[in-house]
Amino acid sequence: YHAKQKSNHYLFFNDSMNEQAVKRLQIENLMRFGLKEDHFVVYYQPKMDIISGALVGMEALVRFITPKKGIIPPNVFIPIAEETGQIIEIGEVVLDKACQDVKSWIDAGLFEGRVAVNLSAKQFSLPDLTTRIDVILQKNQLPSYFLELEITEGTVMDDPQEAIAIMRSLSARGIHLAMDDFGTGYSSLAYLKQFPLNTLKVDKAFIDDMHNERGRNMVDSIVTIAHNLDLHVVAEGVEREEQLAFLKSLNCQTIQGYYYSKPLSYEEFTVFLKQQKRKPTLKVLHSDFA
Ligand code: C2E
Ligand code: MG
Ligand code: MG
Ligand code: MG
Repeated sequence: YHAKQKSNHYLFFNDSMNEQAVKRLQIENLMRFGLKEDHFVVYYQPKMDIISGALVGMEALVRFITPKKGIIPPNVFIPIAEETGQIIEIGEVVLDKACQDVKSWIDAGLFEGRVAVNLSAKQFSLPDLTTRIDVILQKNQLPSYFLELEITEGTVMDDPQEAIAIMRSLSARGIHLAMDDFGTGYSSLAYLKQFPLNTLKVDKAFIDDMHNERGRNMVDSIVTIAHNLDLHVVAEGVEREEQLAFLKSLNCQTIQGYYYSKPLSYEEFTVFLKQQKRKPTLKVLHSDFA
């Protein structure tokens, strides 16, 4: 009986290991094929000013839409793409598409803010990162001050001194930098003040936790730190009125979440922009980079 149990356990373990490996390989192959066949699509989620309800900007979020397996969520394929290095190519497809789409909205007189694009650790550490970004901006004739890049703590804490140098070269181009998922990774407050950041994004996990007092105190503290460092704050994953009200009391300026809108396709976002047109919009200050 013991032996059988042992062997069952072994078998189960082996199978699930195998299953995982097969699934990973399957997704890797789907991504390789998807890159050739344009299966990566970019959606946009609005970032709204908490006081005026005006559109401030948007975040580009990749969607992997396969004909055979349907939509594969970022949380499934991004970690695999990070490991295989395919994230570099996927990231560039997203950046290129985001620049192209934003350029079209600017040209149509529908938008004057920044588009935020997520930058993976692998992309961030490419020796020719800035050249690659310059090429994509130029190709789309988009001035760099319409771009914001979102990076995570893990990306910059790997080699903070090197990260500061890279961030400075991006920032010198007028590109804004946001720290994404703040507080969920390994980060150092000592470095936070040294990074040339513009924005700090409070992770959804903290927003979700605002139903209790300790959770609210936590968000209060994060917003205070950000403001003390002269950083703009974006609250991510805001879904409910109470969350909005509390964030407003903390003077957190910008909200991104289902409360306002889910990520939208290019066509849907165009409609959203036309509706926003009736409201005042916040413009990029072209003097705001140097
Ligand atoms: P993120 O950059 O922190 O993006 C925010 C995520 O929160 C998005 O998930 C968005 O759809 C979701 N979200 C926003 N508001 C709400 C809300 O009110 N409720 C709920 N339940 N969710 C909300 P998504 O699009 O699934 O992306 C997940 C993560 O995948 C992103 O987190 C980012 O880390 C990564 N990712 C997405 N697109 C890209 C990309 O183009 N490049 C890279 N490197 N990573 C990406
Ligand atoms: Mg992000
Ligand atoms: Mg985030
Ligand atoms: Mg996230």
